[in-house]
Amino acid sequence: MSDDFYIRCEDLFKIYKTANLEVVALRGLDLRIAAGEFMAIVGASGSGKSTLLNILAGLDTPSAGRCFVGGEDLLTMSSGDMVRYRRKKVGFVWQQTGRNLVPYLDAVQNVEVPLVLDGVPAARARERATHLLELVLMGHRLNHKPEQLSGGEQQRVSIAVALANNPPLLLADEPTGELDSVGADTVYDVFRSLNKDLGTTVVIVTHDPDIAARVDRVVAIRDGRTSTEIHRRVYFEGAKTEIVHEEFVLIDAAGRLQIPREYLERLDIHERARVLMGEGRVEVRPEANPRGTRRSG
Ligand code: ADP
Ligand code: MG
Repeated sequence: MSDDFYIRCEDLFKIYKTANLEVVALRGLDLRIAAGEFMAIVGASGSGKSTLLNILAGLDTPSAGRCFVGGEDLLTMSSGDMVRYRRKKVGFVWQQTGRNLVPYLDAVQNVEVPLVLDGVPAARARERATHLLELVLMGHRLNHKPEQLSGGEQQRVSIAVALANNPPLLLADEPTGELDSVGADTVYDVFRSLNKDLGTTVVIVTHDPDIAARVDRVVAIRDGRTSTEIHRRVYFEGAKTEIVHEEFVLIDAAGRLQIPREYLERLDIHERARVLMGEGRVEVRPEANPRGTRRSG
């Protein structure tokens, strides 16, 4: 299929079935991410962020819908292809530093693990591991074990491990969730420089409200669907640069959108509303007062 986007999810569903309960973690999610983007996904706990990231990582399979990454179809992929996909096409960083690193190996040995598993000769693996640790600003801690490193330093080593086999896509699930603000700042700086210098597509899941200032685009997920999007735009005016964040509501292929709950509450809109075509705009009005006159009391 022809595809201008590196990641394309359409009407994606994930249903978890437990004994006699079904949880719909993703309900018709649409998302497109361009190659080389540096973006974040935000949302409340339980909104489906990790579910989406695990699907993109090839760690979990969707229940229905379409999901293509780098032209590969994640719904129809064989399990053998899935193993290859996980090994070659995607790097993953978990929130828990302990999940990313082998505790008894030092930094350089940790980065060598995926290289050696991939058949890279020892000397070449050491060279590449050292280079990757320099890229994540850990060149001065090559022989430290995880317990001898701060949380932020461990996450930077984890990023180097994730990049070992040179994947075009880097996914991180709450990578700064256990870090202080200084540690988090450096981790975000490293993600940005990798995105810029290696061209790696970076997708970060977080509930850090300040994320919009750090990435180029933020997509919010609500109840298993994408709802809004914030773009970071840099304007140059003479010698001045101005950074502006613009927020958009996402509209899916069926014309559905999510109206912010506080707007609905303020206008007392439930279940039904009137949609009117205005001058260069579409209006959503409460059912009871089509002219938009506010009810008194
Ligand atoms: P987030 O990462 O945004 O906090 P998740 O993707 O982890 O959200 O979870 C979305 C929903 O799916 C939640 O209601 C969660 O309880 C449910 N869920 C996630 N994983 C499983 C699972 N393995 N089995 C059953 N339900 C799950
Ligand atoms: Mg999660």
